[in-house]
Amino acid sequence: MNEAGKTVLVTGAAMGIGRAVAEVLAAEGKNLVLFDRDAAALKTTAAEIGGAVATHVGSVSSLADCEAAVSLAKDRFGGLAGVSHNAGIQRYGDVLETSEALWAEVLDVNLTGAFLVAKAAMPELRRQRGAIILTASVQGMAAQKGALAYVVSKHALVGLVTAMAVDEAGNGVRVVGVAPGSVDTPLLRAAIALDPDPEALSAVVDAMHPLGRRAEASEIADVIAFLLSDKASFITGETIRVDGGLLAQIGGAP
Ligand code: NAD
Repeated sequence: MNEAGKTVLVTGAAMGIGRAVAEVLAAEGKNLVLFDRDAAALKTTAAEIGGAVATHVGSVSSLADCEAAVSLAKDRFGGLAGVSHNAGIQRYGDVLETSEALWAEVLDVNLTGAFLVAKAAMPELRRQRGAIILTASVQGMAAQKGALAYVVSKHALVGLVTAMAVDEAGNGVRVVGVAPGSVDTPLLRAAIALDPDPEALSAVVDAMHPLGRRAEASEIADVIAFLLSDKASFITGETIRVDGGLLAQIGGAP
């Protein structure tokens, strides 16, 4: 199938990595359903991207919202060939600092959200022999100190990629993860702003990547667009690091 004219559901599309994915896919001529819980930011993003774009405001933690987003793709564009799942939240705390409520919140969005998006989209993805790309993190493969629930959610997301890829391969659906290092998005900027010395932390964030800087969101989006395309037709069951060499280096920040 031609890449142009395919329909892709992008979650977390209002800003950050999801928005960058939407921009790259729109430039490829794809039909887009943009799904986010931030109604105002989603409206702005959709208006700025333009083209064949529909929006659904809701939470990935709700199966009904996920199903509504897939129904929108069917009604507006006749189906769904791909999903780029990016909706996620970052929270901090070690095991004693992490309340049950915070634990539940992070797992509900970062892990259950991915499961529910996949569950809602899979009938269409099977029908079109499509692909679903889950944005995980290097924190699904290693751990930042003091981010227990987030780290666990991302490790579980890597497991979801592995398990779902094995289950769906016979149905013609590819399942792939992407594990970014630090990416310049509202999420990262908010995390840095929490530090007592944001400027110093910002310099450390750049320096801990062997390439000497954080990524632009578009650098993650380009990889996701490739993985969604037929050029990646033999890639499934893998979570690919896009981390500027972060996990390749022993010892972290210089
Ligand atoms: P961001 O906060 O800039 O954007 C996330 C978007 O997801 C927002 O528009 C937000 O409204 C939406 N969202 C959050 N919870 C939602 C929910 N329950 N339902 C629907 N939409 C929801 O974040 P980002 O940096 O673009 O991160 C995107 C993904 O990439 C996340 O899964 C994050 O964990 C992962 N990631 C980010 C970085 C980084 O450094 N920025 C690094 C590694 C992985």
